[in-house]
Amino acid sequence: SRSPRPDTVRTTCGYCGVGCTLDVVVRDGSVAAVLPARDGPVNRGHACVKGRFSYGYLTSAERLTEPLVRQDGVLTPATWDQALDAVAAGLRAAMEQGGPDAVAAISSARATNEENYLVQKFLRTGIGTNNVDNCSRLCHAPSAAGLTAAFGRAGGTDSFDDVERADCLLVVGANPVEAHPVVGARLLSAALDGATLIVADPRNVGLARHADLHLRPRPGTNVALFHGLAHVLVAEGLIDQDFLAERATGLDELCTLLTDYPPERAAEITGVPAGDITAAARAYGRAARPAIVYGLGVTEHLHGTDGVRTLANLAVLRGAVGGTGHGYGISPLRGQNNVQGASDMGALPDLLPGYGPVTDPAARARAEAVWGQQVPRRPGLRIPDMFRSAREGRLRALWIIGEDVCATDPDSRQVAEALDACPMVVVSELFLGETARHADVVLPAASWLEKDGTFVNFDRRFQRVRPAVRPPGTARTDFDVVHAVARTMGADLGCPTPADALSECARLAPDFAGLSYDRLDREGAVPWPCPSPHRPGESTLYTREFATGDGRAHLSAAPYLPPGEVPDADYPLLLVTGRRWAHYNSGSMTRRGGNLLLDGQGRLDLHPLDAARHGVRDGAPVTVESRHGRARLIARVGSDTAPGQVFCAFHFPADGVNALTSPHADTATSCPEYKVTAVRLRPT
Ligand code: SF4
Repeated sequence: SRSPRPDTVRTTCGYCGVGCTLDVVVRDGSVAAVLPARDGPVNRGHACVKGRFSYGYLTSAERLTEPLVRQDGVLTPATWDQALDAVAAGLRAAMEQGGPDAVAAISSARATNEENYLVQKFLRTGIGTNNVDNCSRLCHAPSAAGLTAAFGRAGGTDSFDDVERADCLLVVGANPVEAHPVVGARLLSAALDGATLIVADPRNVGLARHADLHLRPRPGTNVALFHGLAHVLVAEGLIDQDFLAERATGLDELCTLLTDYPPERAAEITGVPAGDITAAARAYGRAARPAIVYGLGVTEHLHGTDGVRTLANLAVLRGAVGGTGHGYGISPLRGQNNVQGASDMGALPDLLPGYGPVTDPAARARAEAVWGQQVPRRPGLRIPDMFRSAREGRLRALWIIGEDVCATDPDSRQVAEALDACPMVVVSELFLGETARHADVVLPAASWLEKDGTFVNFDRRFQRVRPAVRPPGTARTDFDVVHAVARTMGADLGCPTPADALSECARLAPDFAGLSYDRLDREGAVPWPCPSPHRPGESTLYTREFATGDGRAHLSAAPYLPPGEVPDADYPLLLVTGRRWAHYNSGSMTRRGGNLLLDGQGRLDLHPLDAARHGVRDGAPVTVESRHGRARLIARVGSDTAPGQVFCAFHFPADGVNALTSPHADTATSCPEYKVTAVRLRPT
């Protein structure tokens, strides 16, 4: 719903995937304050330091206010007409030399649903390629793949309101107190109200300090841990036989596999004591209403999709999914504000809006009927393949929207080489970040407080995004810019406004058929699937049947396989990367507000034993090296990390953290293995 106060604009936070409703107080055309909405459906009057105070970047002197076009090797201010002509010429040249598949685009969770929808429509109908991907490739692509394989849809199974009612919470590979603070607070309060809290995470994360059980698996060993838990559930009869017989498949294969994973063997692989594995399984198995919440510590692995699927096994074995009344399924905590929506809108190389495969003639026909144009049938390139293709000279034009890939993607040296090898790189950005410096054309973009649209949060709720202030200078929304580029190339994408774009998407994607701006303005938040304007969206999935081909939940019998890197004599420590509470991703927004005063530099957390072993002092500079690169950080010695492991965030690109991370990626989805890199260190 709209804000109740005349001087405020109600919108949805553009940082993490919780999707807090915020009332932005505007004075003289500027943001004067951001207030958490008391009636916000997820935040209920709360917000974290990012959503509430990180808006100083809006008026930063570093904001891009006019396009830049590279001339004689230098990025030079240009008019929009000049910039659009340069982009169109670059795209046309790429198509002449390599066909439509020589062009690609990387879209973003920072973009609205409507912007993501328009980008993929432009690539598919204006260019003629499926080479479009979004940043979920780097975080939750294994969730989409794993949850679809298990249950049929690429989202969490239950709403957070239900999760909060659980009497046992299994929180895996997530640090919500810092990365999703409003949800972290709600989980903590559920635990304080009596829910059993089990945290599975290698680090001593905030929630772990309040947990009944804290399991600390070695990074890269999740699948063995989940099989160990499943083994106990089966061995002790803590499974729902009726549910499994009526609504699931794959039990026999899984039970055969689980004979290899008694708690003792799982303990050997994971380092978690067998007794703790047994105790955790009993707590989850005996609870009346258990729920699983997980984060990127499950997905960002060489076998991340197997991790999601084998974690989902627990909910299926327990019959705790599908609105059975016996629990609240499995919910991924999305890192970025609209990472769910970017994929929902089809900014993916193999899936159309609403997840219809491009290889499926019926899904293509639905889109073609609405778009009036043919949809290419061959799946396009994923983000890592785009970079590879550029290095090999096949990809000749790449448009990157709202992603600082040189700062956030793994093995950043190779990313920079790919951009330098690509004849036309277009970057739409707020600031001249690491990636924009490699661009041929830089287009100044509007931020989430400056645009109109919708986001989808981590529990599948569509919510409105409304412009509170105008973008600076001539900066424009990605929605406007995609239209402008298409027009310059002679293409008409239709849907002139964001509201039109959502309506058009609703016509081709059955799960979104009941959505419209009128409805969202009236109701505030509507979850998908929402197949009818006359029915509420489904906050709990699969109450009748699962959305798989046979209508049943599919258990996975994937075996544990080791991670891409393990410690050795040369690189004896394992690096885990993640987020800290005051900053967001590459920090381009949160570093340009007051948050630097709260958390102003990149730090490497390490255990006192490792500090002593490597001669590193607390607060002193330290050089970290992997097989892929080098970074310099400030040591923070403490017991949050286990011996043999170190942790740092990626909020400060100048530190070069992603020069360290490896090119290993999930075998099913190409999601990078950010959580496991073998490193060594020395005092700087
Ligand atoms: Fe809410 Fe996340 Fe925004 Fe914080 S960053 S205000 S938790 S949506």
